[in-house]
Amino acid sequence: MPVPPPTAAATAARVILTRLHDVMAGRTHAQAKLNNVVQIIGEALTSEVCSVYLLRDGVLELFATRGLSQEAVHVTKLALGEGLVGTIAKNVETLNLDEAAAHPEFAYRPETGEDLYHSFAGVPIVRRERAVGVLCVQHEAPRRYDEVEIEALQTVAMVLAELIAAAGLVDESVGAGVTARDMGPAQLSGLKLVDGMARGHAVFHQPHVVIEHTVAEDVEIERQRVYSAFRQMREQIDRMTSQAEFGTAGEHQDVLETYKMFAYDEGWSRRINDAISSGLTAEAAIERVQQRTRMRMREIDDPLLRDRMHDLEDLSNRLLRIVAGQLGTAAQLGLRQDSILIARNLGPAELLEYDRRRLKGVVLEEGSLTAHVTIVARAMGIPVLGRVRDVRHLVAEGDLLLLDATQPLLVARPSTPMEEVFEAKLAVTQRRRAEFAAMRDLPALTQDGVRIELMVNAGLRDDAAALDVTGADGIGLFRTEFQFLVSATLPQRERQQRLYRDVMDSAGDRPVIFRTVDIGGDKALPYMKVDGAEGEENPAMGWRALRLALERDALMKAQARALLEAAAGRTLHVMFPMVSEPWEYEAARDLFERQREWLAGRGRMGPTAVRYGAMLEVPALAEMLDQLLHRLDFLSIGTNDLTQFLFAADRGNPKLAERYDWLSPAILRFLSRVTQACRVAGVPVGVCGEMGGRPLEAMALLGLGLNRLSITPAAVGPVKAMIRSLDVAALREAMPAWLAEAPRDLRARMESWAGERRVAIL
Ligand code: PEP
Ligand code: MG
Repeated sequence: MPVPPPTAAATAARVILTRLHDVMAGRTHAQAKLNNVVQIIGEALTSEVCSVYLLRDGVLELFATRGLSQEAVHVTKLALGEGLVGTIAKNVETLNLDEAAAHPEFAYRPETGEDLYHSFAGVPIVRRERAVGVLCVQHEAPRRYDEVEIEALQTVAMVLAELIAAAGLVDESVGAGVTARDMGPAQLSGLKLVDGMARGHAVFHQPHVVIEHTVAEDVEIERQRVYSAFRQMREQIDRMTSQAEFGTAGEHQDVLETYKMFAYDEGWSRRINDAISSGLTAEAAIERVQQRTRMRMREIDDPLLRDRMHDLEDLSNRLLRIVAGQLGTAAQLGLRQDSILIARNLGPAELLEYDRRRLKGVVLEEGSLTAHVTIVARAMGIPVLGRVRDVRHLVAEGDLLLLDATQPLLVARPSTPMEEVFEAKLAVTQRRRAEFAAMRDLPALTQDGVRIELMVNAGLRDDAAALDVTGADGIGLFRTEFQFLVSATLPQRERQQRLYRDVMDSAGDRPVIFRTVDIGGDKALPYMKVDGAEGEENPAMGWRALRLALERDALMKAQARALLEAAAGRTLHVMFPMVSEPWEYEAARDLFERQREWLAGRGRMGPTAVRYGAMLEVPALAEMLDQLLHRLDFLSIGTNDLTQFLFAADRGNPKLAERYDWLSPAILRFLSRVTQACRVAGVPVGVCGEMGGRPLEAMALLGLGLNRLSITPAAVGPVKAMIRSLDVAALREAMPAWLAEAPRDLRARMESWAGERRVAIL
């Protein structure tokens, strides 16, 4: 690798670090060293003031200063969050202000004599991802510090972190003083990322790499160490990509490819190189770049991009472990039986390294539904609880954990009664799962002999396996945008085609209903800029799905070709999302038909038949069914979006999640009218929203006359059990009176009806 010339920031930091190196190596007392440090930094940045605050007993104490009154040292103290210094420490953020007093958090401390100074810049001193102090400079003239100076300060702050730790100046168990072990049972809530329950002992994914030395003795040696670590890391990633347990094709491959792309990212290695040029050791340089990434990540609002940044963080940790010779993640050291993995976040490749038989669950401090690691965990069948705040501090290695993603809850160090409750629930779940599995090959037939079509929702290649596992009748909704969401770049037509063909192959003669991409709005793709979709206030009602696809028709054409060619020689089922007016459906269908003609004109084999459907998710379309139904082969009601629009209640807002009931008269009356219109027109209609996956709601839908549901695979068992215990004719008889009377507690009414007739709705 050629050595890039050092940047201005690296040169500035190098000058300071060379001088700091001597101070650090000296035999003087820590306080004397700190006094020296503030002099050196102040001089190098020609700042009148340079101060160091350290966190002691939960407050930030002025430990050393050049420029402020010496009487204030060890006297001036600020709470976390108080004043500029407290704000920097609390938020682990950098501040750079030309007029300090103008900042809303500014707190004046007369004993320091700081009223002379206008400009202010401060950076957190970070250890184990928490601020243990603040390094700041002040200037008489009002000016903002430039980027080079801020970078130099950040680099110096790392060195200070080492000095402070070596001298034992701050409490290592920051802010706590008690260890997790001293604590009794704890219940931590989180976000369900992958459903399921697990019992096991806490294992930390990563024993922390403690950086011993931050200032390089010999920059060239450090550079070589990093080069060699990069080589080893890339070899590891290449090996993993080619050996991934999930075969060589598919979304997991896409995920790993993204990961690989980061591993080879020149920008990243250049930044590390630059940090080494500034005089840091290889470990400190990697950590320095990672810290910067973390700080940037905090400012990023885009969840998709944030997920990708986690991949980079994952790699950075790997690199750090290689360079420090601390190679053992919990995966490499070998898991004990029944482990629950704890991590801030995990990369997909890191998760794949674990022994699946021993790994029972995963708990993350971060994590999101669209993160790569979530997708991989789901394919591995491992429950994941995300967004569990501070779990790495509240749980200790080896603690007994009960993970219940259905709740979603984590219990650490449970009391005996807590364990008993959990075990009882687990036993019920396992028993029921066994019962459902036994029903796999039985038809979804009601007591009075009505055959209900029970299909599953899917979106990834491996989801097709759910068909065999559940015995479902087909895939009623294949969300094609998933492939777009897990890819680092726009999936080309060939890749789309391969996925669609594979899914149809695994489905055999069971139908697969492909939904054209529903992207845009909240499912934005980082690699695709869409005019009109940026900064939308209501993305769910925005420039998304078919609205966007009809305008960006190159995307839609490519998908149409991919679907048509993948379905060569068989029937293609395709439906369009978010149709709001009939002409949108017509336009989409036309586009497909033109692509079909194009293929035929070139002698390419297309599908034997195409069955077109629309999704009813926008209430306005229900008013236009007379114009639309005769053009449709089927209609699919997307109750997730439909109900949010009917009630004007954001489906992603947890506060509204419980407020309006799917079993409200308004929703059921609406669905009843739509179902009836379809019946009269002779158009098959089904429901593919989450509503159909809950036994009681599914029962209500059947009561309205629906005979087709497409639901999440885990719900097939419970819903089939409901169907097989239901006399649907009796229900259909009772329904009109309920809808006419429209009681507020319709749910309770139906529950007791089901209870009396022993319909399995639990
Ligand atoms: C729906 O809106 O009900 C639906 C099935 O589509 P999605 O959840 O993908 O928006
Ligand atoms: Mg929808």
